Amino acid sequence: MSFEAIRIDKDDAGYRAGYAVIDDADLMPGDVDIDVTHSTINYKDGLAITGKGPVVRRFPMIPGVDFAGRVTRSTHKDFAPGDLVVAGGCGLGEAHFGGLAQRARVSGDWLVPLPPGLSPAQAMAIGTAGLTAMFCVLALERFGMTPERGPMVVTGATGGVGSVAVALLARRGWRVAAVTGRPEEADYLKSLGADEIIDRAELAEPGKPLQSQRFAAAVDTVGSVTLANVLARTQFDGAVAACGNARGMDLPTSVAPFILRGVTLLGVESVRPRPTLRRDAWARLARDLDKQALSRMSETIPFSEALERAKKIVEGQVRGRIVVAIG
Ligand code: NDP
Repeated sequence: MSFEAIRIDKDDAGYRAGYAVIDDADLMPGDVDIDVTHSTINYKDGLAITGKGPVVRRFPMIPGVDFAGRVTRSTHKDFAPGDLVVAGGCGLGEAHFGGLAQRARVSGDWLVPLPPGLSPAQAMAIGTAGLTAMFCVLALERFGMTPERGPMVVTGATGGVGSVAVALLARRGWRVAAVTGRPEEADYLKSLGADEIIDRAELAEPGKPLQSQRFAAAVDTVGSVTLANVLARTQFDGAVAACGNARGMDLPTSVAPFILRGVTLLGVESVRPRPTLRRDAWARLARDLDKQALSRMSETIPFSEALERAKKIVEGQVRGRIVVAIG
């Protein structure tokens, strides 16, 4: 059998991505086959498809770090034909064929049963971006942060991770300050639960490593000078969950926020989380994320538009989350 997929090639003719027909026999090894019904476009997929970041580690590659679908074959103990499943991270779209395809074959260890209360489309509206936002919230909670401590700031707020973080935190009772470079999206961010909108420019210029204390905690998706300024404005004993590098990989700060204010920097990684953490995070998302907010932040596109939209996400022209209807 053959199926349609986006395929990335790199050879003497250069780096390119396009739609292609792939044979089942060419799928990579795995003990579970899935008919993919939905996928999504994360920032990393945009980097992979455009070649603007070194995401893909073998060629040819099917991009797509996430998918949801129905099992058609399984020799894995936890899954049987007909089961609805979700996959994300684990090298999908980087080292193993990913979700922007009608079919997938993966290790059952990478799959999570579709969490009760979520449709496959809703699971992809969340995707790795939403899961990462949840990991940030869980990291801050494990550290003991509660809304009584003061306001929470979220950077890159109109992005995928940022939008889910704003909605989750507002639902948990946090007073959320949303940092954005798109002031025209203020109403959108308020509809997700943001209390205050901060212009991205306020945190864009290099500043002192210690500034007026403004936030109890933060979810940072941007990195670089923005993260340095967030750390500089974090209150005594506060914590910052850092998960992204939309602005840059650098972190131009000093040890001052850590040793003079006891600020803690919590790193968040979503590709290889412990399986229990991943299941807990999906369960919390199914329970805590306001479904109306989820639908406000997501847009569904047909598979035929996925390639174009992936290019737009690296140009910063995407708001919230994109669901790709594949099946
Ligand atoms: P999006 O592209 O959806 O959102 C990123 C947002 O960052 C933009 O919408 C924009 O928000 C803001 N932004 C973009 N460029 C700049 C800039 N130069 N300076 C300041 N802000 C900027 O991406 P995602 O939300 O999906 O991902 C966010 C980050 O998190 C990415 O770097 C991604 O690679 C990373 N990530 C990390 C994961 C992990 O495992 N650690 C998993 C998933 C994502 P606005 O317009 O509102 O300012």
